[in-house]
Amino acid sequence: MNKLCPCGSNLPYFECCEPVISSKREAATCEELMRSRYTAFTTANGDYLMLSHYSETRKAKEIGRIKKWAESVQWMGLVILNTQNGEVTDETGFVEFRALFMEGGEMQQIHEKSLFKRENGKWVYVSGIHFPE
Ligand SMILES: [Zn+2]
Repeated sequence: MNKLCPCGSNLPYFECCEPVISSKREAATCEELMRSRYTAFTTANGDYLMLSHYSETRKAKEIGRIKKWAESVQWMGLVILNTQNGEVTDETGFVEFRALFMEGGEMQQIHEKSLFKRENGKWVYVSGIHFPE
């Protein structure tokens, strides 16, 4: 009932990413969208990952592979390192984060700086740059 949100916000899931993922409300900032996408990875919610991806950089054909991979690892947490713009009044923004997961018995991480922009008024993920671990 009061399950904490997987994104690490320390808020209950139903007050954090759940309403964004289920389209009850829109992400107000690109950090909120980033958190909701991490949470969608933890539940291998491929539909939401596609929905929240910029249409021009989305690769719908990869949805199956992404889902399968997201299900095959154990998600350990999200750390937001930095944000630039991406606020309520912005049109673009960046979020730098670490996403931690266990794969093949080893702790792995994605360290990425992601670009977000608004498409039809809604925040979407455009692309990301990966940093070496
Ligand atoms: Zn959340």
